[in-house]
Amino acid sequence: MAPVALVTGSSRGIGRAIACCLADAGYDIVVNYEKNRDAAKQTAGEIRKRNRRPRICGASVAVPEESRRLVEFTMEAFGRIDLLVNNAGIAPRARADILETTPESYDEVLDTNLKGPYFLTQLAATRMIQLTGNGIVPKARIVNITSISAFAGSTSRGEYCVSKAGLSMMTMLFAVRLAEHGITVNEIQPGIIRTDMTGPVRKNYDRRIAEGLTPIRRWGVPEDVGKAVAAVALGYFDFTTGAAIPVDGGFHLRRL
Ligand code: NAP
Repeated sequence: MAPVALVTGSSRGIGRAIACCLADAGYDIVVNYEKNRDAAKQTAGEIRKRNRRPRICGASVAVPEESRRLVEFTMEAFGRIDLLVNNAGIAPRARADILETTPESYDEVLDTNLKGPYFLTQLAATRMIQLTGNGIVPKARIVNITSISAFAGSTSRGEYCVSKAGLSMMTMLFAVRLAEHGITVNEIQPGIIRTDMTGPVRKNYDRRIAEGLTPIRRWGVPEDVGKAVAAVALGYFDFTTGAAIPVDGGFHLRRL
């Protein structure tokens, strides 16, 4: 039986590319979305084209009961979970200087980008410990999609940066805790990737990338991230845990 990946927020953007790359790598996929069922169906179609099985589950990762339902759905659909990809995430609805961040925006972003993945990981990891213990899953892995915003500050969206820095620490915590069970937990740090999320700032980044913001002078595309997740999923990083793998065109490099 094929291994199974649960990819949160895989209706669009980076999540869809991750789902497709994992299907290419031989995984069956639980496609999760919050609002866009039609987009989730398109992702499912892409997975079927790759001769893998998709199942679609609408659930908000920001709501703990829905995360629970998502894990139960995965178990009922496939009877196993080999890989969890915490990809679902949001930017603040409106950029605002940190002197003006509202508690509502802070809570919405933190609930989705950090609290949600924290408790979803707790639930999935508990299942993975059972599944690896009884030999149903030979090797379980968890991948968190953080961001260069985990270390690069944008004072116009502080809540987003805080959420990603927290997700980075969460990666290290679960990596330490789950190592004894043979479960790796790693983080992919995407740079500036062309998706709906970056649509509103496209012109600004067109200019800044052309001026050398990233040593590799192009936008990232969702497949850049998908391929990195697939490398982890295929076992090419099985002696690596708690690590941040940059997929950012070299943005993180200090230069003089
Ligand atoms: P996107 O195009 O806006 O897509 C977001 C995805 O997350 C959609 O599938 C959306 O579902 C889903 N989602 C949002 N809230 C959710 C919730 N509460 N529960 C379940 N699913 C939810 O974003 P993206 O650019 O692909 O970003 C994906 C991840 O990469 C995010 O964590 C983001 O922070 C991170 N990232 C992005 C960039 C970038 O430059 N784009 C850079 C670094 C990191 P619906 O379709 O139902 O709305």
